Amino acid sequence: MKSLKISSELFQRAKAVIPGGVNSPVRAYQSVGMDPPFITRGEGPYLFDADGNRYIDYVLSWGPMILGHAHPKVVAAVQQAAAHGTSFGAPTEAEVELAELVCKRMPHVEMLRLVNSGTEAVMTAARLARGFTQRDLLVKFDGCYHGHSDGFLVKAGSGLATGGIPASRGVPASISAATHSLPYNDFEAVARLFEKRGAEIAAVIVEPVAANMGVVLPESGFLEGLRDLTQKYEALLIFDEVITGFRIARGGASEVFGVIPDLVCLGKILGGGLPIGAVGGKTEIMQNLAPLGDVYQAGTLSGNPISVAAGLATLQELNDPDLYVALKLQTERLAEGLMHEFQRVKVPVQINRITGLLTVYFTTILVNDLTSASQCNTDKFRSFFRGMLSNQIYLPPSPFEAWFLSTLHNETVIEESLKSQHTALKSI
Ligand SMILES: *Cc1c(COP(=O)(O)O)cnc(C)c1O
Repeated sequence: MKSLKISSELFQRAKAVIPGGVNSPVRAYQSVGMDPPFITRGEGPYLFDADGNRYIDYVLSWGPMILGHAHPKVVAAVQQAAAHGTSFGAPTEAEVELAELVCKRMPHVEMLRLVNSGTEAVMTAARLARGFTQRDLLVKFDGCYHGHSDGFLVKAGSGLATGGIPASRGVPASISAATHSLPYNDFEAVARLFEKRGAEIAAVIVEPVAANMGVVLPESGFLEGLRDLTQKYEALLIFDEVITGFRIARGGASEVFGVIPDLVCLGKILGGGLPIGAVGGKTEIMQNLAPLGDVYQAGTLSGNPISVAAGLATLQELNDPDLYVALKLQTERLAEGLMHEFQRVKVPVQINRITGLLTVYFTTILVNDLTSASQCNTDKFRSFFRGMLSNQIYLPPSPFEAWFLSTLHNETVIEESLKSQHTALKSI
């Protein structure tokens, strides 16, 4: 690997004018003790940096790039849309097409409102749930990330977990008090809370597969239990599928687990690498949004033609169920290959995985919630991360983030990654 001299110079410049040199904290490489590579371009499963290195990318812009970088059909769709004008603040046919496509792929979504980010999608879902139920309290789970709006920065996983920040400063106590956070996979804790305060709870929001404390799968019965309980108390169940939507299956988590939420939040893949978010659900609930109802939500650039074109092109490519069969197989191949090599050198790890997502935890214990995830050895992760980077493998710079695979992470790419792991493990 070539030294990151140019990237480091760029980072110095960045730090003078951008807080921490980055526009999102997870990019900062603070927790791995180095400066981040500056990226010049991406192509398929690869990223290229300003210093002339080529990496296999397991970050994929934190999820959206499921077709790999610069997919020809997505690029063409974006170019064509841009040439026709970038924003009108008026309805377009493509928005309708995208909404129709999502409703088809996720049959429990009858209506969809497009917004500009996952954060906005969750904010909107929360307001809608509160407006619909006329209740204030929200229940979330420790280590689940639902964007950076005030109400959700309680034990929020992702960058906060990496930075060791339990809750963000700047959030009024009165707002935090309206969100109750419980351990993931602890259904009994949710049942106890509902027994005490069920009449105040507007909604339970959950990542159906948690992917912001690393990947944590729902234990059997957990999602089903949340569905039954919310129904019984007339609260809503919100699935935050900003990561899992169109990734773990064509129709997302509901297709995998057979549990149907009242509302679903989407983002990331939905925009094919451009800014987007969406909240969808039953008409009965969705029609409470303005202009039909009095739950207000709006956006100057919402449904903008370029994001919509990229999203449509991406979802059309993802129509083929075989892509998901292959993605699942490749994820398994990578997880098993990694595990084999770790066992050979006697480094204990747990690898949690599902189609298109995995996390290597440097620990001997089963990881099923934030507490167990937090016990992993962060020093070992740091040296592994650095070893992998110097062998051209670009991983999320945090032990509490998911690795993402694209449909282009084929056998050759996986083999090359495992070879790098072999070399990296020799030097740590
Ligand atoms: C990324 C993410 C969000 C926030 O989306 P942004 O587009 O970054 O605002 C919300 N929920 C989950 C589960 C996410 O992974």
